[in-house]
Amino acid sequence: MKAYQVVENGKPLEEKDIETPTPQGNEVLLKTVACGVCHSDVHIHDGYFDLGGGVQLPSPLPEGKPLTMGHEIFGEVVSVGEDVEGINEGERYIAYPWMGCGDCDLCNDDMTHYCMNNSNLGIHVGGGYGDHVLVPDKKYLFDAGDTPDSLAGSYACRGLTAYSALKKAGPYNKDNSLVIVSAGGLGLLALKIAKAAYGISPIVVDIDDEKLGMASQLGASATINSSEEGAAEKLFELTEGGARSIVDFVGAEASVNFGYNLLARGGSYVVVGLFGGQLTLPLPMQALFEKKLMGSYVGSLGDMQELMELVVAGKIDPVDVEMRNVSEANKTLEEMKEGKLLGLVALSHD
Ligand SMILES: [Zn+2]
Ligand SMILES: [Zn+2]
Repeated sequence: MKAYQVVENGKPLEEKDIETPTPQGNEVLLKTVACGVCHSDVHIHDGYFDLGGGVQLPSPLPEGKPLTMGHEIFGEVVSVGEDVEGINEGERYIAYPWMGCGDCDLCNDDMTHYCMNNSNLGIHVGGGYGDHVLVPDKKYLFDAGDTPDSLAGSYACRGLTAYSALKKAGPYNKDNSLVIVSAGGLGLLALKIAKAAYGISPIVVDIDDEKLGMASQLGASATINSSEEGAAEKLFELTEGGARSIVDFVGAEASVNFGYNLLARGGSYVVVGLFGGQLTLPLPMQALFEKKLMGSYVGSLGDMQELMELVVAGKIDPVDVEMRNVSEANKTLEEMKEGKLLGLVALSHD
């Protein structure tokens, strides 16, 4: 099989011929149809996540070996292990990539994504920048319904991230109980998911009026430009005295400081974005107001199941994704790093 691999962090990916795995036991071998290029790929390729303020979180190559990236995988079954039933050659599936050891307390409690010994596809083991991907068990495979090939794999990362963050925030059945910070790609996806999953039209906050215009078009009940004077008062008014739940897809010092103080009693603030910075909190206010500050990163297998039910039922409008040949992987990562990619890109191996 062919794979574009990170051989050295920060250096261009190299096209390699490697052995195609043979599925054993419960394993399923997929031929990659498309694999989304995710912003995390830029960081995995670099070998670190930039946390802002000069702080870096290292993300070294697993055991220093070459890595085939790509965790937004949509593939076609080419062969299965001897214990696999009900999965047939030619069927196409999204692969849930956030897998754990499979047999610890966390893995056994639908928290494979928290497992200490995780083996995430495209991060710890080979992913969709290779033309074949080995999936350890059919339970990680999801039907994509009518989703376009180029978009399908993205639901296992950005879609899941947005869905799981909203679930943690736990909005009420009221438009103004949910505030989404960011009218960028993930923020707008969360807006669509909020409408599909909770039947509500949230409030959207951003610092860019053009993006906020898009949020209005997609059905935000109100939009706020947080860089404008009076923004905090406006949010306070719209939420009738404080927000029940805020999901922050920016995660910058400015966005969290803006939003956290505007939480209602018992409210939840979910940080998803990795922009970076610090937060200083008056601790007594935590207790007195029972505020919850939490992070969210991807989501559980159960979350994926729930999300895919909405997707397959056609409740979330698909977005356009540009399909490129995998030979353009380096160019794509470079453009993404420089902020030149406006939309989503997926790689194909044809
Ligand atoms: Zn991703
Ligand atoms: Zn585990």
